[in-house]
Amino acid sequence: MIRIGIDLGGTKIAACALGDDGVELVRHRVATPQGSYEQTLKAIEDLVRRVEGDVGASCTVGIGYPGSVSPRTGLHRNANSTCLNGHDVVGDLQNQMNREIRGANDANCLALSEAFDGAGAASRVVFAVIIGTGTGGGIVVDQRILVGRNAIGGEWGHCPMPGTDRAERRARPCYCGQFGCIEQFLAGPALEAEYFRHENIHHPLEEIAGRSHANVDPSARALIELLCERLADALAVVVNTLDPDVIVLGGGVSNIAEIYSRTPRLIAQRIFSDQFDTPILRAKFGDASGVRGAARLWGEPRSSID
Ligand SMILES: [Zn+2]
Repeated sequence: MIRIGIDLGGTKIAACALGDDGVELVRHRVATPQGSYEQTLKAIEDLVRRVEGDVGASCTVGIGYPGSVSPRTGLHRNANSTCLNGHDVVGDLQNQMNREIRGANDANCLALSEAFDGAGAASRVVFAVIIGTGTGGGIVVDQRILVGRNAIGGEWGHCPMPGTDRAERRARPCYCGQFGCIEQFLAGPALEAEYFRHENIHHPLEEIAGRSHANVDPSARALIELLCERLADALAVVVNTLDPDVIVLGGGVSNIAEIYSRTPRLIAQRIFSDQFDTPILRAKFGDASGVRGAARLWGEPRSSID
């Protein structure tokens, strides 16, 4: 069986076809139609037909999307691509394409991909997060996504940032309606804004990380050190609560090498245990993990714990 995965992002829609052995047979990406729900669905349908044309077969289709489906209304919510919110995205796609489609949150897809044959392949309980322009998380147990009763399993990025006071959090409103979410401290735009506040120059995160690594910019170095401290504050809560077998990081922030050398020691100082040997690993498939995980939503027997 060939599985198609779709990763519906705010700026691009990516598609791939995975063969039984996990090899990517085809990959395409198109720009996401901005602000139009109908055009977004049409773009997804066109991509599926294009991939099926390329591989010459009818395939299963799984889709990873931002946000989640409300168990109360059955409709989409919490997506930063706000044109999806309030719609039955998977249901509408199924009607439009007249076939069964499976969907999951994009960070859950990353976690599933990495648990299946990525950085967490040897682990039973995988906690995976994407820290990029936003912050999403997913939990996979025995290669099944833990969706959760309220369908927010793993949404660590929208907890209040540990170690901050109310005033600090009030100063950082989040698009989700709360203040001072972890995302507002750890995601790329938050870090770039913090550097700008100190230096009055805008550098992309990649450059800030490079300047820190080369030890040519004390502000950059201090910011990366602060990032490691904050990441440890935030991940210590996950370790104390879930105690996963592995923590997998994806997204632009996950490319910062210092995270892997410094953060484990900082987490060890913060948790309720005399040992901390949990591996913290970069996502094996990088940006492709979302689309691979979406394809893996068609697993055996079911790839999610509902
Ligand atoms: Zn939030």
